[in-house]
Amino acid sequence: MSEERELSPEQSKEVAAPAPKKVKKIIRKKRPARPQVDSSFITSEPPPQTGTIFNIWYNKWSGGDREDKYLSKTPAKGRCNIAKDSGYTRADKVTGSYFCLFFARGVCPKGQDCEYLHRLPNIHDIFNPNVDCFGRDKFSDYRDDMGGVGSFMRQNRTIYVGRIHVTDDIEEIVARHFAEWGQVERIRVLNTRGVAFITYSNEANAQFAKESMAHQSLDHNEVLNVRWATADPNPMAQAREARRIEEQAAEAIRRALPEEFVAEIEGRDPEARKRRKIESGFGLEGYEAPDDIYFARGAQAVNPAGRRGHELEQEQRLMIENGETAGEQDTAALRDALGQQEPVQDGGIFSSSTLAALKTAKVSTAPKTKAAASGPLVAYGSDSEDEED
Ligand SMILES: [Zn+2]
Repeated sequence: MSEERELSPEQSKEVAAPAPKKVKKIIRKKRPARPQVDSSFITSEPPPQTGTIFNIWYNKWSGGDREDKYLSKTPAKGRCNIAKDSGYTRADKVTGSYFCLFFARGVCPKGQDCEYLHRLPNIHDIFNPNVDCFGRDKFSDYRDDMGGVGSFMRQNRTIYVGRIHVTDDIEEIVARHFAEWGQVERIRVLNTRGVAFITYSNEANAQFAKESMAHQSLDHNEVLNVRWATADPNPMAQAREARRIEEQAAEAIRRALPEEFVAEIEGRDPEARKRRKIESGFGLEGYEAPDDIYFARGAQAVNPAGRRGHELEQEQRLMIENGETAGEQDTAALRDALGQQEPVQDGGIFSSSTLAALKTAKVSTAPKTKAAASGPLVAYGSDSEDEED
């Protein structure tokens, strides 16, 4: 909304300054990632002991409750600047690469040699729901303090940000800082309490933002407390989230079904509705097949449109059941239909859909011979005749 529009000039200001706009865009796409800190930044000396267990992978202490007290007072050591720091790394050549956690925190010294991605996640970056965009395992439950990687039980796109310095323009400040990490869907600021909830359009961007903004400051020298938001108890918000999940599911179905089915389900095609009324009776007076029958797919589908592409599968099974003779006859008939001399190998030159189409064509010229083999459901009138309409 308005916060994004306010933000983009601010973001581009930094990069637009050194070069004209058009040139900048081209460079940006092919630019290698720059190292964010000098390699001497990563020291081998262990951090002060703040917990009971030392984790060598993260070079920090965990366990006990001292970690939080220590860390919460310590500002982040770096800060990622997407416009200046992002670029390609070795990870861009490898599909399914994860994002660089150190890049998000602004402290990766490796630049283009990094094995992880140095850019913002976008909608095309899809990960297993059990890991976050940095490749870290999620847990079944959130930590008591809602910190950490988070839970795989719920898709969480909202981060909680506490300890924001309270000013009159707190909303503008929050919007400006958090828009850097991806498309923001919604921001809610509790002005007097210095608390904000930021919802990103994509989960990966929320994950990225949470790491990028942990212990950062906004326009004042505060040290932010960034956590996962708990599920919003507001019924309006819950309804909104439920609707979003439904929309995602609908989109997935839309992609999986053939175009003509989708048009019919959504009632976009009035002709199709009329046709369905007639067709879904399957010749039985007063009967109209329910959706799950009418839109069913597979070799046994009642609706001829649902059988399309599955005929071959069905016939192959019948061939196996009937032994080789039937198979040879089929191939011979197909060869005749094609006017070919050479034997046709199933699945050889032709795709299965092509073969299926050819076999349908053959069936329509001699429907009687096929009818007996087609099983009880398909015996509702000849499918080939229906299909001609
Ligand atoms: Zn890196």
